[in-house]
Parts: sequence; C-alpha cells; structure tokens
Amino acid sequence: MIEYHTSTIGDRKIGKDLPVLVQTMYDSAIPHDKAELQELLRRIGALNAMGCDILRFSYPSLEDHESFSWLCKHSPIPLVADIHFDYTLALDAIACGAHKVRINPGNIGARWKVDEVVRSALDNNVAIRIGLNSGSLPKGEESMPHLMSNSALEYLGWFESLGFYNSVVSLKASATETTYEANRLFASQSGYPLHLGVTEAGSVVSSVTRSTWALGRLLALGIGNTLRISITGDIETEVQAGVELLRTLGLRKGGIRIVSCPRCGRHSFDSQGFLQSIEKELLSVQKPLTVAIMGCQVNGPGEAKHADIAITGIGKDIFLYEKGELVRKVKLEEAREAVLEAVRNAE
Ligand code: SF4
Repeated sequence: MIEYHTSTIGDRKIGKDLPVLVQTMYDSAIPHDKAELQELLRRIGALNAMGCDILRFSYPSLEDHESFSWLCKHSPIPLVADIHFDYTLALDAIACGAHKVRINPGNIGARWKVDEVVRSALDNNVAIRIGLNSGSLPKGEESMPHLMSNSALEYLGWFESLGFYNSVVSLKASATETTYEANRLFASQSGYPLHLGVTEAGSVVSSVTRSTWALGRLLALGIGNTLRISITGDIETEVQAGVELLRTLGLRKGGIRIVSCPRCGRHSFDSQGFLQSIEKELLSVQKPLTVAIMGCQVNGPGEAKHADIAITGIGKDIFLYEKGELVRKVKLEEAREAVLEAVRNAE
C-alpha cells in the first residue's frame, strides 16, 4: 500500500490530487547589480503571469548570498537553489530563504554533509528535491530505470530516518523511454511527489516533442506533480510549453487558447508575424478565452464563429470579430491593440 506525501515549497503544496505545477530554470548567473535584480524581479512576475509556479536558480557561489536573499524575499513565486558538490552552498541557500534546494546526495560527498543539509531544511521548513540524472549514476547490473528509482528510494529512506518528509524526487534522462520507465517504476513504489522532465532535450521542436511524449503519458497516468520542459532556448518558451501541455491534458484550466491558421499562399495578412507579436501577452491573461488569428476568408470567418475574439485578413482589410459577430474593420497597425482591448473587455 503506497503512502502519499505532500511537499511544501514556499506557499505551494504538491502531492496527490493537487494541481501540477510548472517550473523553469533561470538561464543566467544571479545578478549582483540592484537595477539588474529589479529587472529580474519584473521578469519573474511576467513568468508568473504566464503560468510559471516555481523558478530554479543555480547557486554556485557564496557571493550570490545577498542577491539571492533579496530575490527570495521579493519573488512572487517560490525559488529553488540548485546545488552541486558543496554542501555549504545548500546551507547558505537555505539561510537566504530558498523554498527548496535541489541536490544529488551522491555528489555531495560524506554522509554527514548531506545530514547537515537535511537537518537545516527540516529546521527551516524547506523542501529538498533529490535530483537524479541518468548521467550521474554509475552503470551497474540493474537497468537504468531500476537504478534511478532504487537510488531515489534509498535516499528517501535515509532522509526519513532523520525525520524529513518534505522531499520531491526527479529522475531525468535524455532518453525519453528511460525517463518514462524510471518515473513509472518509482511511482509504483512510492507516494513522494515527482518533478518530471526530460533533460538535455534540445531546441524547441525536439524538446517539446520528446518531453510531451514522455511527460504526457506519465501525467495521463496521474504521475507527476511539477514539470519542466527543458529547452535550449528561452525560459518563457519553457513555461509556455509546460502550461500548454497541462491544458491539453485538462490538468490546468483558464487562460487563453490560441487558434491560428498555419498560413498558406492565400493569406492576405501576415498572421504568423502577428501571432509572434502578440502571443506572450495573450498567454499572460488568465481569462478562459479562445482567440483566433486567421490569414484569410477561407477559414477565418468560420473559425471566428467559434472563438470569443478573432481576427481575419480579408482582401486588404483586417476584420475583428467578437463572440462570432463581425465588430469592425481595422488597419493592420491597429490590429494588435484592437485584439488586446477586446481581451481586456471580455467577461
Ligand atoms: S485561413 Fe487562409 S491563409 Fe490561413 S491556412 Fe487557411 S486558407 Fe491559408
């Protein structure tokens, strides 16, 4: 019989029957300059508006202490410190106010060092992610999924012996089937929350394809509590992909569903460029609306009938529809603001 655990990460809780959260990882070093920190805080707010629930930072140096403390204090979403090798960095990140630390106990070294991190996390109500990547585990008799799952179970038993239950596990591999099997195996034996991801998955197309294949099947089985779509690209796209996956699976409600035609030779306006110019702003709105962006009159008016807001190129003009009704004609340069205004006014 599996015993399910809930983990607390700042003001968020994850576990069985709780919402699946989207995570990304900041792609640069933590800035030390005050103006850059303010800009980063603004970016975290924008990520949050797009649906990002948790943000991870690499925490490679004690020199980041002051900046990371400031970020932990002001961030609207929980922050995670990613630690490798040096347990004093984990202790320091906890002292900064990190809401979770991610460690691989296997690369911290002596057992007493990991014990100190676990005790500090326990005292400060900080979660620990036991992050195991296939590349960091020794090859043995067992298959890689078994090795990953069994190593995680062993670490969890060790942490429990210290009275610590606020754990999250991640079992990542660049091979999608290894990731899938390792997580499925683990979930069949343990009720600890899982953070899902396919690591080193490549650029947008390969990452989204591989991640959706592995994570989608796990999530459909009810496995996974947080996720990251790791992309060699910008972190906003990671969040967008994560949120889209959850919405597609019906695991996240609300937000704008964009319908856009693929564009062909018949297009009478650049629907592709238009979508790029407005997409991130639309994805930051949490109203449950369908917005259609269509290139011409072949499918435009038809799609507009089923959308809350739609824009279609017809001849030399752009037509704006609301609730399936033609509202007005706008110039191309006015179209962006017209759509955003309609979104703002929509109930
Ligand atoms: S709506 Fe028009 S431009 Fe867009 S794909 Fe269909 S036919 Fe082509």
